[in-house]
Amino acid sequence: MTLTTANLGFPRIGKHRELKFALEAYWTGKSDQAALLDVARQLRAKNWQLQARKGLDIIPSNDFSLYDHVLDTATMVGAIPAGYHWHGGKVDLDTYFAMARGATGQAHSACGHNHGGEGVAALEMTKWFDTNYHYLVPELHAAQQFVLTENRPLAAFLEARELGIHTRPVLLGPITFLKLSKTTDGSDAFDLLGRLLPVYARILQELSDASCDWVQIDEPCLALDLSDGERELVKSSYATLFQAAPELNVMLATYFGPLGENLKTALGLPVSGLHIDVTRGKEEWKTIAEIIPARLTLSLGIIDGRNVWRADLADLARAISDINAERPELHIQIAPSCSLLHVPIDAELETDLDDELRSWLSFATQKLEEISTLRDLVDGKVGAIDRLLENTRHHSPRVNDPAVAKRLGELVGVTHNRKSGFAERQAVQEQRFQLPLFPTTTIGSFPQTPEVRKARSAHGKGALSDNQYRTFLEKETANAIRWQEDIGLDVLVHGEFERNDMVQYFGEQLSGFAFTKHAWVQSYGSRYVRPPIIYGDVSRPQSMTVSWWQFAQAQTDKPMKGMLTGPVTILNWSFVRDDLPRETVCRQIALAIRDEVIDLEKAGAGMIQIDEAALREGLPLRKADWQYYLDWAVESFRICASDVADETQIHTHMCYSEFNDIMDAITAMDADVISIETSRSKMELLDVFKDQAYPNEIGPGVYDIHSPRVPDISEMQNLLHLARQRLNGRQLWVNPDCGLKTRKWDEVKPALMNMVEAAKAQRNGDLTTKERKTA
Ligand code: GLN
Ligand code: ZN
Repeated sequence: MTLTTANLGFPRIGKHRELKFALEAYWTGKSDQAALLDVARQLRAKNWQLQARKGLDIIPSNDFSLYDHVLDTATMVGAIPAGYHWHGGKVDLDTYFAMARGATGQAHSACGHNHGGEGVAALEMTKWFDTNYHYLVPELHAAQQFVLTENRPLAAFLEARELGIHTRPVLLGPITFLKLSKTTDGSDAFDLLGRLLPVYARILQELSDASCDWVQIDEPCLALDLSDGERELVKSSYATLFQAAPELNVMLATYFGPLGENLKTALGLPVSGLHIDVTRGKEEWKTIAEIIPARLTLSLGIIDGRNVWRADLADLARAISDINAERPELHIQIAPSCSLLHVPIDAELETDLDDELRSWLSFATQKLEEISTLRDLVDGKVGAIDRLLENTRHHSPRVNDPAVAKRLGELVGVTHNRKSGFAERQAVQEQRFQLPLFPTTTIGSFPQTPEVRKARSAHGKGALSDNQYRTFLEKETANAIRWQEDIGLDVLVHGEFERNDMVQYFGEQLSGFAFTKHAWVQSYGSRYVRPPIIYGDVSRPQSMTVSWWQFAQAQTDKPMKGMLTGPVTILNWSFVRDDLPRETVCRQIALAIRDEVIDLEKAGAGMIQIDEAALREGLPLRKADWQYYLDWAVESFRICASDVADETQIHTHMCYSEFNDIMDAITAMDADVISIETSRSKMELLDVFKDQAYPNEIGPGVYDIHSPRVPDISEMQNLLHLARQRLNGRQLWVNPDCGLKTRKWDEVKPALMNMVEAAKAQRNGDLTTKERKTA
């Protein structure tokens, strides 16, 4: 067996977030294009040199991007919508950034992404497969022409060669590119394949002419459900590309899941290698190792590129040696499962974590070491027996808490129903709260002003004492409550000023979570996040929100919602331990949140909102896996929410608008009230709630919080009117699409005042007879 090591992609952001700062300096006019491009060039050089130092045989190039690799591909092939005023040739930086962020209309939300408004809007953004990375969705149309504006992979290959580093350039494959694109005219993006392939062919030819020997072409869409027709397109495309550049070796990279029914297609392509995701592959890799033709290099994505744990290298080495014993003729490459884009850069920076915990972690830099060590181990080099082989994690008492295991055991077979059905609950809740029809409320957070952020950071640095900080937050909270009362909202919130982030706030108070200082991961563009790391059994040592709720409720006679983040959202936005099934970790979190729900109820909270903002985004890539996920996700929510009295009203919130395919799960959550994002879809998404006769109460968002625009009264009344065409008036709440933390008070104030007026106007009309009858 020949054994080599490879990487598929390295984080672009820089160990100290150099790229973010360079981008922001450029965008705000504090630096020029040359300065930005210089930082980018230095980062690429550093990354290549690091990978060379770590002993990687195959180092990627063109994995770098100033903003997003899908946008890079779109601009490279000339897929630039008309509004951006591109007239051919190399796409300049300002056009590129206009596509990423919009132009002239100032970036308005905290995300820095311009979703519309004046000027040119940015392209739409969406999640890259099941990661928390977001790409810009290319916009195509039936008459779309493609042209090579700039051979980016070639430029990167040559740039690395200048530095004496031979690389394997990365391209996003044509099938995945089209699969991820949208068309503006309802046409099929795949109809454009015949026009796109010549551009790819030319890229490959030019690479081949420059004596590039291998390219990596990413086709993660092979981990999705594809139609027979799509599989045919994969076949014919790669045949075309092979003919164009027969000398060039293609490593076809698949990742994020097993190939399933796409496997046969993948194995039959005229390429030189196949990369598969071993960590997500459900053991499929063992079959592949048995049947893969020896002409194909088998790249084993065996080091998890989606998580932060050190691998058990001795076990992995044994598995590779077993393949070697069976198939000595195979050429094997050891690689991360996918690009390392999805993990932070260097665990060594986390000096605030204790040595033991840090020794369990493997970020991008450590993963490169693991890959090299693994090769040495398989090669029988004794020197590899070092600290990388010790892993105390699995047996550590810090990881395993018998009390948590015992509680989980007691859940088996329990159905987590509320005490009574919804109709009975609704009756006692109406009695208790005496709310008007169309009650108004908000989703939880109020603007996180510069003052709030300043105080938080001063407190973090010790410049503000605990007491001073608490006093400051209490003042903000009290003001927000007084203002809500003044404008006549019916159900109030405390404003979440004490929360840095809806997941971190809870994670910091739960056992089993660790937080990092420098472990940034790109979410999109210059927006990076530091996900919590769940390393051990989760429990709740003490109440997390009760004293804030008590303070808030003491300010008002109106109902004050208790505000919690749900277990599925906490799970989906964290790095999760890999030694337990995700559903088990989720149930542990659910038990902790359930404890909080019970404590809030004991303290007198009559309404408790459990946000599940990220429930939908946890859906598996393959439809066949959806039901299992939805079952445990819903069960986790019910674990939190079921152990309360009928008169306690459970709310949930979801900030997205696609419910069609998960409606049964939403119904099964059995929240008394659900608030959702609907304002932009003009309430159309309520159709599914209507069709399914969704029985519980619902607050369809009437105020688009993604825009600074203040909706007027009639506009929100129209939306409510549309909602009443679909749902019973008695079911409806009136609220914004989501929390208001990224907005400014001078937008929020008039918008919510208008919202209250819009609700009042509906009340004046009262319920129609039909609404009353069906209620
Ligand atoms: N309660 C949270 C807030 O209002 C919910 C945020 C979200 O759904 N993303 O900010
Ligand atoms: Zn939301």
